[in-house]
Amino acid sequence: KETLRSTNLVKTYGPVSALAEVSLTVEPGESLAIMGPSGSGKSTLLHVLSGILRPDSGTVWLGDTDVTGLRDHERSRLRRERFGFVFQDGQLVDELSAAENVAFPLLLAGWKRSKALREASRWLERLGLSGMESRKPGEMSGGQAQRVAIARSLVHRPAVVFADEPTGALDQATGHEVMQILTTVCQMSGATLIVVTHDMEVAKWCNRLVEIRDAVVHDDRKLGVGR
Ligand code: ADP
Ligand code: ADP
Repeated sequence: KETLRSTNLVKTYGPVSALAEVSLTVEPGESLAIMGPSGSGKSTLLHVLSGILRPDSGTVWLGDTDVTGLRDHERSRLRRERFGFVFQDGQLVDELSAAENVAFPLLLAGWKRSKALREASRWLERLGLSGMESRKPGEMSGGQAQRVAIARSLVHRPAVVFADEPTGALDQATGHEVMQILTTVCQMSGATLIVVTHDMEVAKWCNRLVEIRDAVVHDDRKLGVGR
């Protein structure tokens, strides 16, 4: 269980300031929603926190590891091993079954195929997808596919799961179901959850809300978890 902490993150694109001295500490097990108007810096913050993008200055710490100071291949490895990702459209591999998609992070970590597939099946079960192991993403509903993506983001027991508009491609009822299960399984497995969304209906499933405006943290408050 590791704290994710950023200090004084700065990122500019030419004349545009995308992050201006953003400091943020996210405790293990917290679920944090990041909201803000379009262009305020949410994606940039998510990408810097998750090690996809290097800031101009400032530091991201995972526990006592300086993520920003790592060399590229070490940073990729930390992302693969310690972080999980859920995107708007799932980004599942169409040619692979649900179980194979979920097993993918374990195969990358060197697990044997049979063991990885067994573990993947257990996660599919937890996500309410028993019996769907051999379905391809194209043979599932949007909500089911997103639950497969959630299983894949957690199967290797990451410290932090980053979700970028995870319900953006779903209708509202399905989006609620997906947020409920995402927050529940992250909490069960002790993973910190960071969700970028423009939708308060999505954010309210989290226990903390950070609002970004004009590249700075405009507001940071606890939420009574809203079911
Ligand atoms: P949000 O996710 O809140 O919409 P972004 O982090 O995508 O905000 O963008 C913050 C600001 O940085 C915006 O003004 C955006 O146009 C700019 N920006 C983001 N990425 C790039 C890039 N690769 N090149 C140039 N400008 C960028
Ligand atoms: P999201 O849908 O996650 O908010 P965006 O639409 O903000 O993502 O950005 C998608 C990609 O385009 C990102 O990699 C971002 O860095 C880049 N980008 C955003 N704004 C600009 C811009 N003004 N110029 C160039 N690239 C940009």
